Amino acid sequence: MRLLTFIAPLLGGRKMTKLQGHEEEALGDAVAWCVANGGCYADPNDPKLYGHAPFALEPFPFPRAEYDRVVALQPAFGRLVDCVARDAAWLEDTLKETAASDEFTRKLLELRRETDAKGLKQTCSLGLLRSDYMLDAPGSNAEDGSGRALQVELNTIASSFGCLSTVISGLHSYIAQKYEGASNGVLPPNKAKDGLCAGLAAAHAEFLRQFPSSDVPRRVAMVVQPGERNQMDQRMLEHGLWEGHGIDLRRVTLLDVEENGGKLIFGEGDDRWEASVVYFRAGYAPDDYASDKEWQARAVIEASNAIKCPTVAYQLAGTKKVQQALAAPGIIEKWLPSDAESLRGVFAGLYSLDVADGASVDAIVAEAIEHPSKFVCKPQREGGGNNLYGDELKESLMKFSPQERAAYVLMDRIQPPSKTATLVRGGESIVGACVCELGIYGTILTNGEGATIFENTPGHLLRQKSLGVDEGGVAAGFACLSSPALV
Ligand code: ADP
Ligand code: MG
Repeated sequence: MRLLTFIAPLLGGRKMTKLQGHEEEALGDAVAWCVANGGCYADPNDPKLYGHAPFALEPFPFPRAEYDRVVALQPAFGRLVDCVARDAAWLEDTLKETAASDEFTRKLLELRRETDAKGLKQTCSLGLLRSDYMLDAPGSNAEDGSGRALQVELNTIASSFGCLSTVISGLHSYIAQKYEGASNGVLPPNKAKDGLCAGLAAAHAEFLRQFPSSDVPRRVAMVVQPGERNQMDQRMLEHGLWEGHGIDLRRVTLLDVEENGGKLIFGEGDDRWEASVVYFRAGYAPDDYASDKEWQARAVIEASNAIKCPTVAYQLAGTKKVQQALAAPGIIEKWLPSDAESLRGVFAGLYSLDVADGASVDAIVAEAIEHPSKFVCKPQREGGGNNLYGDELKESLMKFSPQERAAYVLMDRIQPPSKTATLVRGGESIVGACVCELGIYGTILTNGEGATIFENTPGHLLRQKSLGVDEGGVAAGFACLSSPALV
């Protein structure tokens, strides 16, 4: 794993706030507040030991107009995911070459096809989505509030940190009040945790409406990875569902799943319960499918009457290949003509590496080999640490066969503005130049025929990482949790 490397502090010229000169005290206050409010993350060496989640001491400036713009777009992105997921022929065609080169995409696509052939027992699906953006403003200072928000990716499975980001928004509001002036900007409200719980609760209610009687209790099943380090983020959803909606959520793994005539039954004897909603916080990476058993379990879930969050089709709609295909002119118009232009307004340049796209692929690959710093090369993976940058991008593109290349897409590299900031990891502060990535949460529950049963855009996540670090995941150890200060 790459380590965070920071350049020397550049405090000169920064607006003085009451925080300056009190950093040690504020650091202690912030760590205590974070832990006291559940902003915790498991130790890398022992998933049973918890410390504070890595965070930024102060919020990061973000231009208000860009924030408002991407928040306003979120419902349309939800509808777009739903339309794409329901368009089997378009998904098949778009992912054809990618699937031929990438086994994981191929298996997901096959699973979608097989489930369709069996006939759907549940047409509703739930998306707990997060659309991620970076500001493009080469060489600018983030304090200036310049830059245009461009979408990095749209997460349709296991979009995490909704609860921890809510905690960090609270932390920054506390620090701003205690150290008056500590944030030069306005902190927007963040109801991500409550909003995600509301989405899960709406899906649970829909299931009970469809199947009013049962001889066993109905619960939400959260599919998790063993030894999950980000468990508190998941636990807070569990607690929020229980306290706010009286709904019991149980953590399961794919290996707990058994076939039961279309119903998903967990537990034994008197402890048997039925899943109303299956919420995946695992299953997005090939490592989550160590054997055929996990794939069989995914197939059982997919074919069951439980509401999936997400379905395999929603997961496929969130692939980088689909993102690239949607960016081509005239494509979004197919489903959402009136939203197409505004949605495309946040797309960075995205380029197909399909063999079928021939000469245009050769041209863009030649350009990326000549100017690797202008591009990012992305495989069909989630969770951070998988993209190719710089020399690695160049060397890979030089050695890939045309078929190997088709497993990836190329994207213009976004050049975010930076600013000096304090990041806190393991109780220690590190000062250096940072950039940010903003995520907007949106939930959407649809009936499978285009009607929306429930939707909301409840909140956000802002991650901060040091300038010069390519990747961005908190879980992968590259970034820290933060919040936006609107300027
Ligand atoms: P993943 O599904 O692994 O999270 P992303 O597309 O979000 O994949 O990429 C991971 C990280 O790489 C992002 O969080 C961001 O920091 C960086 N990144 C991705 N795309 C770009 C881009 N076009 N320009 C600059 N940085 C990018
Ligand atoms: Mg990402």
